Amino acid sequence: MHTMTEESTRSVLRDLGIEDRNPGGFAGEWIGSGRAVPVISPLDGEPLASVAQVTGEDLEILLDRCRRAFLGWRQVPAPKRGEAVRSLGEELRAHKENLARLVSLEMGKTLRESLGEVQEMIDVCDFAVGLSRQLYGLTMPSERAQHRIQEQWHPLGVVGVITAFNFPVAVWSWNAALALVCGDTVLWKPSSKTPLTAVAVTRIARRVLERHGHDPAVCSLAVGKGSEIGDLINADPRVALVSYTGSVPGGRHVGRMVQERFGRLILELGGNNAVIVSDKSDLDIALRSVYFGAIGTSGQRCTSTRRVIVHESVYDEFTARLGALYARTSIGDPLDDANLMGPLVDRKAVATMIEAIEAAKAQGARVLMGGETLRLRGGCYVTPCLVEAPAGLPIAREETFAPVLYLMKYRTLEEAIAVQNAVPQGLSSAIITNDLRESERFLSAAGSDCGIANVNTGTSGAEIGGAFGGEKETGGGRESGSDAWKAYMRRQTNVLNFSGRIELAQGIRLDV
Ligand code: NAD
Repeated sequence: MHTMTEESTRSVLRDLGIEDRNPGGFAGEWIGSGRAVPVISPLDGEPLASVAQVTGEDLEILLDRCRRAFLGWRQVPAPKRGEAVRSLGEELRAHKENLARLVSLEMGKTLRESLGEVQEMIDVCDFAVGLSRQLYGLTMPSERAQHRIQEQWHPLGVVGVITAFNFPVAVWSWNAALALVCGDTVLWKPSSKTPLTAVAVTRIARRVLERHGHDPAVCSLAVGKGSEIGDLINADPRVALVSYTGSVPGGRHVGRMVQERFGRLILELGGNNAVIVSDKSDLDIALRSVYFGAIGTSGQRCTSTRRVIVHESVYDEFTARLGALYARTSIGDPLDDANLMGPLVDRKAVATMIEAIEAAKAQGARVLMGGETLRLRGGCYVTPCLVEAPAGLPIAREETFAPVLYLMKYRTLEEAIAVQNAVPQGLSSAIITNDLRESERFLSAAGSDCGIANVNTGTSGAEIGGAFGGEKETGGGRESGSDAWKAYMRRQTNVLNFSGRIELAQGIRLDV
């Protein structure tokens, strides 16, 4: 059992409209003719409720309705679409506490982090409301007299949003809030590990859209297996853009399928994020940044700190102090505010962590502490693991989605940056230093090769304002923040001639 009683769990589910058995498809009305799959809480191994999967035939209906909803939605003025997104943010504020509790119950992150995740949804709604009046095109001077050139941005179509389990609601909102103001409709395929939060959010979105007099199929949902429903979405030309958040192998497969039909793609894939701790750093800042980055969300963030590259002169002190923090980590029920770490998402994740630690040992690394499974209330709990890694440890090139942190030593900054960049992934990175020259070198063209590079703050915990995403095997996509909205629209260039005669560009003569 966890700190929430059966009655309070029921009241959370009731408030969010979750029944014992829920249809997993929505596009104006709820459908789900497939098998009902129970959702097991990683907190105690108990079922929370079940969700009926959508079948291929269901998906056909859902896509058709979602596409039809697009034909109306694209004509709604963008600031009016923004008003609906503002109401969505308000509704999320009203349900913040319960939605956060459901996130914790369903995937196991601590309630503080779940509250942060729902806050992120609210923040991105606010961001998108402002954006709904700022979808600016450009005008440029024409080389031809009495001509004008302009660029304008039009809605794109249905956006297939395929999300990972670890941010079960925020990733949808990064995409959906932008897509909605851009005039797109959204078909969400959530992770099969976290369909209940998706059902809850879709219920909220439906209410908001209906209240504003819009077609609720603007925010559609399809719960089903990636290899079945996901593949149908990847292949369907009605889905103009597939925004995929998940693992690198998954992204490689989705990328190939969508590219095959020249569909648009946003890929937000795995990371292998490192922090460089300089001898010129404030070690307190370094410790806190690395500690939270490595154990937060039980190491199940795409931006989790997986490697720490420490200057040899401070390595022993840093490692000893980090070990002391690790030893004090309170692990258990994520709904209990006393705990900093909840469970992993499921038993498979626990097995993957143990396998990675065994591989590290076999490859010559030394486990300093942690990496044990904890028999707590039938849940998927582990202790966070510190591993001293020799340079080039093969397993440290992979993303193990668990709290395993590899510690490495360096002598020169060039060497540290080279080690940090010597992995296939390129999501997030950080340097902890008080030396301006070091931080500037880290941020320069010859520095970190990641999509995110921070100074004196860790790799995890991005704000919604900056463009979010990474390079190399992380996929190159940017789902939210800054000018990421452009990926959700189609750009059109217009030449307008008001000269009263026809003239070709580049001075080409047309004598007829
Ligand atoms: P996953 O790859 O197992 O699943 C992600 C999603 O893909 C799920 O919804 C799954 O059902 C779906 N899927 C599976 N097969 C598919 C197919 N053939 N076609 C379409 N969809 C398919 O990932 P996960 O375990 O849920 O999440 C963890 C991974 O996600 C980690 O690698 C993490 O780094 C990454 N992630 C990246 C970001 C980012 O922004 N870069 C954010 C969160 C998570």
